[in-house]
Amino acid sequence: MNVADTERAATGLRASGYDLCASEQEADVVLLNTCSVREKAERKVFTRIGEIRSASEGHKKVVGVMGCVAQLEGDSIFQQSSTVDLVVGTRATDRLASLIKRARDGERKVMDLAERDPDDSWDVSPVERHSPHIAFIPIIEGCNKFCSFCIVPYSRGRERSRPANLIVDEINSLQRLGYKEIHLIGQNVNSYRPRVETGLEGFAGATPFSRLLRAVAATGMPRIKFTTSFPRDFHPDIVAAIEANENLCDWVHLPVQSGSDRVLKRMRRGHTRSDYLERIARIKSSKRRLALTTDVIVGFPGETAEDFQQTLSLVEECSYDSLYIFKYSKRRGTPAADFDDTVSESEKTERFLELENVQRTSQEKVYSAYIGRTLSVLAERQSSRSESDLTGHSTCHKVVNFAGDESLEGEILNVLITEAKTNSLYGTIVNSRA
Ligand code: SAM
Repeated sequence: MNVADTERAATGLRASGYDLCASEQEADVVLLNTCSVREKAERKVFTRIGEIRSASEGHKKVVGVMGCVAQLEGDSIFQQSSTVDLVVGTRATDRLASLIKRARDGERKVMDLAERDPDDSWDVSPVERHSPHIAFIPIIEGCNKFCSFCIVPYSRGRERSRPANLIVDEINSLQRLGYKEIHLIGQNVNSYRPRVETGLEGFAGATPFSRLLRAVAATGMPRIKFTTSFPRDFHPDIVAAIEANENLCDWVHLPVQSGSDRVLKRMRRGHTRSDYLERIARIKSSKRRLALTTDVIVGFPGETAEDFQQTLSLVEECSYDSLYIFKYSKRRGTPAADFDDTVSESEKTERFLELENVQRTSQEKVYSAYIGRTLSVLAERQSSRSESDLTGHSTCHKVVNFAGDESLEGEILNVLITEAKTNSLYGTIVNSRA
């Protein structure tokens, strides 16, 4: 989501006459786009501001903080760092150029934490996209779930869905530009609920999101991925839509956070272990093999050794393709910040490592099972390890490396998997175009 926001910010700024430069030293304006999901990310911002200022002594520049930390901390950023000129909240990206102008004209402490304008542009210029082959498309912003640990509803506000016709139009123009893969993104993509039907007419489905999936599949974009899904809103019709449309990729990211009902309740997730496992059963019983990934928080306040055992057993049972593990980080203003933080830092680290170990064993089995199979891979770029190799992702979102030259970049290729590592696969091209 932050990458997508940066792409939009760069698009708007370039349209206003700004240009991106290669280093922060030579820049007249430096903007830090920030994340506040965990405390560590938040702290890094202030270290970076100090580094930027000291690296550019003598060169007068505007330094701004945008994104989630800006939205949450507001005015207090100016107190914490007297060298910041600009604070730009999560819904003010479209107003960046005029805010920068005010700061450059000499106004001190320029701040905008206001709501998005109704006619805000979602345009992203292809020059600013992070890849010439893959594009991120936000379909929903914000969050209404209020999980007790999570800062997102406060930093990004309530859920707002973009009309389906705008999403479909964007995909059509990306396809004309030669993009091969899009990712529908949002904090909870499957909570998608636009105010208007436009663009969904003629597409049946049990939820607006599964209708959207069918509408975007009909564009013919070769590969469509979506992330993140929220378990409570994960309707089986999503799997039915994937089964009926090959260009909807075979990967679901469904964060569980914990395997213990007691912890899930205190997290206010709105799902139990068995609700979650029911959704997993539908995913696993699909006639397509769907890759499954998740997020887990270890060391949530009050998490006992027994609760943690239940997380371990759930992770083993689900046999995830990949797992993102987070140590609980207290976020000021969230309900969990008032809970007694009973799990020490060293216990959090122990649990993190134990879970990582369990996942590694299970993941090695998952990855080895790909040996001998042919995957459809989008060749994204030269591998950083070897000049004669290319790297890309499969439709099941595995990193796949294979021998090939740059003329194949941007092509979708069939790759026969010959070797599996813990987090990546290696193979050979079996025909040049999938
Ligand atoms: N909306 C998605 C959901 O809740 O299912 C996930 C969005 S969140 C930006 C990404 C991940 O960060 C979460 O799934 C969670 O595992 C982790 N996270 C969020 N708040 C956290 C906290 N206070 N401490 C540690 N990890 C956290």
